[in-house]
Amino acid sequence: MITSSPRNRQWLTTNFPLLFAVLKTLHGKAIESLDNLRCPVCNKQFRRRTATIAHFVRTHREFFIRIVNEVTDRYRKLLNAINDRTHHIVLKLNGEELRFESRKELAEYIEQHPEVLEQILEQFNASW
Ligand SMILES: [Zn+2]
Repeated sequence: MITSSPRNRQWLTTNFPLLFAVLKTLHGKAIESLDNLRCPVCNKQFRRRTATIAHFVRTHREFFIRIVNEVTDRYRKLLNAINDRTHHIVLKLNGEELRFESRKELAEYIEQHPEVLEQILEQFNASW
C-alpha cells in the first residue's frame, strides 16, 4: 500500500489480491502516477521511486491517510460481503449468481470490472 513498486505490487497481488483490487479500483490513477515517478497530487516529477513515495506520504499526508482509510474500509466491507465458503466464493449480482474459486479470481474479476465493487457493497448495505 505504501509503495507501488513492481516488487511490492507483486507481494500485494499475491498475498492480498482483493486489497490490491480495491486499491486499484479506487485509486488506479494515483498508482499509475506513482509508477511514473510523478506525485499524483501536485504532479511533481521525481527520479527515484523512494523519493516519489516519500514526498507523497509526507507532503500530502492527509490525502495519503484518506486513501488508506478508504481502501481499508472498502476492503473490510468487501470481506464481509463475500460469501466466502470453504472452497469458493459466491456473489449475487443483478440477480445472477457469480462463483469464484478463490479470492484471487474474484480480485481479477474486480480489476477487469471495477464497477462491480460498488455494486457488491451497495447490495450488501441494502441487505441490512
Ligand atoms: Zn506532491
